[in-house]
Amino acid sequence: MKGSIAVIGAGMAGMTCAQQLRALGHRVEVFEREPILGGRLATKRIDRLNYDLGTPYITARTTEFNRHLNGLALLGSVTKWAPSLFEGQRGDQQVTKPQNWFVGVPGMNSITRAMSEDIRVHLSARVVKLTRAASRWTLHLSNGVQADGFHAVLVTAPAPESFALLRDHTRDFDDMTRVRMSPCWTVIVNLQERLQIEFDAASQIGEVLAWVARDSCKPSRRKDSEIWILQSTPDWSKEFVEEDPELVAEDMWAEMCAAFPQIQEIKPIGLAAYRWRFALVERSLAQSALFSRDTMLGAAGDWCLGPRAEAAFESASALVRRVDEAFALT
Ligand SMILES: Cc1cc2nc3c(=O)[nH]c(=O)nc-3n(C[C@H](O)[C@H](O)[C@H](O)COP(=O)(O)OP(=O)(O)OC[C@H]3O[C@@H](n4cnc5c(N)ncnc54)[C@H](O)[C@@H]3O)c2cc1C
Repeated sequence: MKGSIAVIGAGMAGMTCAQQLRALGHRVEVFEREPILGGRLATKRIDRLNYDLGTPYITARTTEFNRHLNGLALLGSVTKWAPSLFEGQRGDQQVTKPQNWFVGVPGMNSITRAMSEDIRVHLSARVVKLTRAASRWTLHLSNGVQADGFHAVLVTAPAPESFALLRDHTRDFDDMTRVRMSPCWTVIVNLQERLQIEFDAASQIGEVLAWVARDSCKPSRRKDSEIWILQSTPDWSKEFVEEDPELVAEDMWAEMCAAFPQIQEIKPIGLAAYRWRFALVERSLAQSALFSRDTMLGAAGDWCLGPRAEAAFESASALVRRVDEAFALT
């Protein structure tokens, strides 16, 4: 038998579930609380400029994920990015050019957008509760709307948010409480002139900045713009998670200027901070996915395997195999 399946979340894990289940012949609907697809593969568009607020690039270690990204590259939604990367500790720095970094074009969320073709995705659809009657699930949305008739529900939100939806229905998801995810502040810096910095990306610049990159030098971005994205370290993010975004933006830009004195006099024309409450997996579940056959509820995401988009893909693929097997036995 083939099923009618609801997927909660339209990030890499959710769209992987949806795409693969649909290819197997199931009827799928995706529910995403944000007005756009992508989750942490996020791109914000302001005044015709794209800003990648979440993951700046992705890598592929497995054949399956490589194949997936190369397929999206053929559609024109993904390409390689080889920035000048500044790495290393003081006194031992070097500039390299990574050869296997993939980015979405024209923004990181183009990756999930390309995966959504022919899939019914409900945007601005925050699921607040699940109920079940006569072996069919109903999703209750925050706007009062209900979507019913689903044989199975797969939740792909970050672990704490997924657990909140699943915990009342079975103990099979209790292990999720072991997962730890750290926050991250992302700061967008919009500049009028090109920064006189000899690289396009750098990691681990002191205790505040985990990553800085010239976002506008990615392929298919507007070349008449100079946009930098700064990301904070997990420790600093935890300490200042409730801080005022304006202060965070100023502090992180000040750190950047302190690290690179040649830019100290430069005033950004735009500076804005965005908080990810659940950004990076610090302690994963160390299981590929969770599925309860009794309830036909499942959960997947990067938090199952590690802090990478590829982990979300692998976890979702594992969940799809278990769900499809369960329907085959029905
Ligand atoms: C700042 C930052 C830097 C990163 N750097 C890298 C990197 O360099 N390389 C790399 O590979 N990965 C990186 N990552 C991690 C990568 O982005 C994630 O591993 C991956 O995107 C996770 O995908 P996911 O589908 O599991 O979760 P998500 O992308 O979080 O998707 C979950 C979705 O569920 C939705 N949702 C949540 N609750 C509900 C609800 N109740 N109802 C409806 N929808 C809901 C959310 O809005 C979201 O769209 C980074 C992440 C961040 C934030």
